[in-house]
Amino acid sequence: MPASGPRPLSPAGVELVTEKRVLITGGAGFVGSHLCEALLERGHEVLCVDNFYTGSRRNVAHLMGNPRFELLRHDVCFPLHVEVDAIYNLACPASPVHYQSDPVQTTKTSVVGALNMLGLAKRLKVPVLQASTSECYGDPAVHPQPESYWGNVNPIGPRSCYDEGKRCAETLFFDYHRQHGLAIKVARIFNTYGPRMHPDDGRVVSNFIVQALRGADITLYGDGAQTRSFCYVDDLVDGLMRLMATPATVTGPINLGNPGEFTIRQLAETVVAMTGSRSRLVQRPLPQDDPRQRRPDLARAKAELDWQPTTALQDGLARTIAYFRQHLALDNTVVQV
Ligand code: NAD
Ligand code: UDP
Ligand code: UDP
Repeated sequence: MPASGPRPLSPAGVELVTEKRVLITGGAGFVGSHLCEALLERGHEVLCVDNFYTGSRRNVAHLMGNPRFELLRHDVCFPLHVEVDAIYNLACPASPVHYQSDPVQTTKTSVVGALNMLGLAKRLKVPVLQASTSECYGDPAVHPQPESYWGNVNPIGPRSCYDEGKRCAETLFFDYHRQHGLAIKVARIFNTYGPRMHPDDGRVVSNFIVQALRGADITLYGDGAQTRSFCYVDDLVDGLMRLMATPATVTGPINLGNPGEFTIRQLAETVVAMTGSRSRLVQRPLPQDDPRQRRPDLARAKAELDWQPTTALQDGLARTIAYFRQHLALDNTVVQV
């Protein structure tokens, strides 16, 4: 990646209409690897930075031959000195199982990682996008959730390292914007699924598909009446790139997600039907502070990004099931159902 030094922000904003050098932290993860791919397809250079905590080289192996792609093993908790035109900050484990396995590291990654990427963006005078989360709304008392809702988050529970870490990162983003005039873009991402989710990361879509393909019990936490809204990863990546392309006046926070709302039991039944599995639904205890409901209010995304997701749950699930079928067969762990 050539080091040609910082460039001033154009007054029109931060549009990546010409080829740019783009840094993606967490680029070897599930969402990050799709974003790397999409930006390369549009002609940009991509510097993918990842410490492989939950991501892997395998997720970006198919990009390694591309001369515009570079992979750097680095932990965002430490300063990073590179020269780029735009930053997408995605580094952070996203599944409850992973982010709770080392909660102190999760908070450090969210907060110190954000601080370092903001310092980098400030030095380079380039826009920086934060992958924030619907978890900022906690167990929401307002439904669906608009960006103006301040949330209902337990500050001391097992999910707090993630929720409060992401909330503090948002605070840092807006303080760098107000204090230093930095061009920021904060996306509040709702549950996203698709190929390259980690098969063991414990998230509901990957869990149910892997369980169904293995003929194992489908684990409903609680009675399965809690709801989530599931966004296919290609739609999310499109939304993230549109957000980065907005004028500097657009900061977010802005919800990105699919408004279709399903109970977890409905999701389980759909996955069982689509895989033709003989798996049974079994109940397991509901984890502490598990949100009862979640659905994005997309009015702002529609108005400011002209964006809404286009992939129906059935279509996205079909592609994700096909990925896991192939992946598990390669790992030789699939049980015929
Ligand atoms: P993921 O776990 O697959 O990817 C996260 C990536 O960050 C991994 O490659 C991991 O190795 C890397 N990483 C973690 N700590 C790091 C550190 N200290 N330094 C460098 N790299 C580090 O998760 P994902 O689903 O791809 O999520 C990507 C981002 O989007 C995360 O910030 C997550 O909080 C956010 N998000 C995702 C969802 C979703 O449903 N997928 C929802 C809301 C927000
Ligand atoms: N930083 C970085 N890369 C840079 C510039 C800064 O990683 O190119 C880090 C820096 O080490 C610091 C953080 O970003 O920890 C915040 O930097 P800033 O300049 O805003 O604050 P300061 O260094 O004055 O505390
Ligand atoms: N869930 C479930 N069975 C599983 C994994 C998750 O019933 O095997 C539930 C979980 O309790 C939550 C929902 O599915 O209510 C979404 O969980 P996930 O971890 O995917 O995302 P998050 O809770 O962060 O929205």
